[in-house]
Amino acid sequence: MEEANTIAALRGHVAARRASGRSIGLVPTMGALHEGHLELVRRCAEHVDDVVVSVFVNPTQFERAEDLAAYPRDPDHDASMLRALGDTAPAVLFAPSVDEIYPAQPRVTVAVQGGLIEGLCGASRPGHFDAVATVVTKLVNLVQPSLAVFGRKDRQQLQVIRQVVADLNLPVGLLGVPTVREQDGVAMSSRNRRLDAEQRGRARALCRSLVAAVDVAHAAREAGGPIAVADLRAAAMEVLDAAPGVVVDYLDIVEPDSMQPGEPEVASDARLVVAVAAEVGPVRLIDNVEVGDPDDEDALLRAVAPI
Ligand code: AMP
Repeated sequence: MEEANTIAALRGHVAARRASGRSIGLVPTMGALHEGHLELVRRCAEHVDDVVVSVFVNPTQFERAEDLAAYPRDPDHDASMLRALGDTAPAVLFAPSVDEIYPAQPRVTVAVQGGLIEGLCGASRPGHFDAVATVVTKLVNLVQPSLAVFGRKDRQQLQVIRQVVADLNLPVGLLGVPTVREQDGVAMSSRNRRLDAEQRGRARALCRSLVAAVDVAHAAREAGGPIAVADLRAAAMEVLDAAPGVVVDYLDIVEPDSMQPGEPEVASDARLVVAVAAEVGPVRLIDNVEVGDPDDEDALLRAVAPI
């Protein structure tokens, strides 16, 4: 695994590989890597010859300076986790400084318009997705991969990036990888490191609220009827409301493409994203499930053992 801290070094490594006919994939991350990130690398390696992993804590996408300062950073551990992947270890680890990516205040950025960012994290984090869209566009332009891989854990982010690629004609394929969970069902996140034992226990409420929504959808399907979105919401909210120390930011139920609310009642096979964000102790956690996607539902139900 080659390590590049500068754009020039990155471009050199990538150009040499491309010149020898190798295809390139990109996995953008903010570091403090965990098994979820490693899964993205493995999945990317299934499709391309050489994977580039970027580790860059993008300052522009944080609304609060204290969140940026507190974001976990562990560069040595990141590099050793990636090396330990062996056969599927990335070819290049790109870990630039902030000055390397933003040598001056940028005058051109990507702006995301419309319904896609009206709800969920877009509502509570103004400007966040513009910053994500901008940095991902820059990374794609730097690496020029044939494939870029993202997690479905950040479901709205994935949809925003799909829109960026479509609207700006970026010549890159996208792959969304299912959420990797801890043994108790909690979605893996770099932010989980900042939870103490009690808060970590409380964090289970997020995935359990999603299970409650999936259970309602299953029951509606078994009864052969439509799914009432309000029932999904009520079931999920009941779990969240009963959880001490979990301050809900949103529990949104949206259509997977538009990321906007749809009809109050949907057919039993309709797809809906149930997405939750909540503050637990010092961190804001997110999770989601795509109701109507059997793989996503099953993965959640398998991971979240009944208590
Ligand atoms: P981050 O470092 O948190 O910005 O995440 C980098 C990439 O990893 C994004 O595409 C995330 O969606 C993805 N990711 C983060 N956590 C998980 C997880 N638990 N399962 C799958 N993908 C994840």
